[in-house]
Amino acid sequence: MEGRWIEVADRVLVRRHSELDLSVGLVLGDGGCLVVDTRGDARQGAELAAEIRRVTRDPWTVVITHSHFDHSFGTGAFLDCPVWAHEACRTDLVANGPAARDTWARWYRERGQDDIADDLAGTEIALPDRLVTSGAEITAGGRRIVLAHFGPGHSGNDLVVHVPDADVVFAGDLVENGAPPDYEDADPLAWPNALDGLLALPGTSTATTVVPGHGDPVGRGFVLTQRAEIAAVADLCREVASGALDREHAVRLSPYPRETTLVALGRVS
Ligand SMILES: [Zn+2]
Repeated sequence: MEGRWIEVADRVLVRRHSELDLSVGLVLGDGGCLVVDTRGDARQGAELAAEIRRVTRDPWTVVITHSHFDHSFGTGAFLDCPVWAHEACRTDLVANGPAARDTWARWYRERGQDDIADDLAGTEIALPDRLVTSGAEITAGGRRIVLAHFGPGHSGNDLVVHVPDADVVFAGDLVENGAPPDYEDADPLAWPNALDGLLALPGTSTATTVVPGHGDPVGRGFVLTQRAEIAAVADLCREVASGALDREHAVRLSPYPRETTLVALGRVS
């Protein structure tokens, strides 16, 4: 069984996976729990559900941080239960989920990982049924949970999950630790604003723990640094789009590797 639990705050667990360096969340309460993201296919979702059952027998509620397969395609293993997500997450899963499944199954097959490719190809994409437009407050096992959308960023449907009593924020892929931020589906110009929203969540502090979608949990300082880098990329995108800067020059000035920067530039110009 792949993965290990770490407890980042009182009854707030993060399960770290070597596959894609993914981090998913588990918030324990009294008589209920909250699962933040469900991994990338039906088998991975079932494994996660089984691991959660070793921690708690309480009924679960699921929140999906965004529609990308590695965060959402395991949801079927948790049904029947409430599944929260941004409204555009559901729209994206309906419109683009099957194509994303094909693309990523091919990606795994080309890497020789036929087992994951087969699991992914055989996965039915479950849809969220509790949809958020800008924000919502829910409870899980009596604990207050704040769901917030701050406009497009890493995707068009990023949802931040805040656990105020534990001072923990699950950021989805708005924050990435251990690899450059992923711009494939991003709005590079809007991303800094989404991070500003995250950093300004009422109840967060200098000691807030932020759980990225990939990589180990980080502190506020890490997010501020990444916000500055993402804002620098946004400036480069604007300058290239306006013709003030050529692409190669922008690549040299970027805080991120060439490939990451070219993807970001391609999303704007
Ligand atoms: Zn993502």
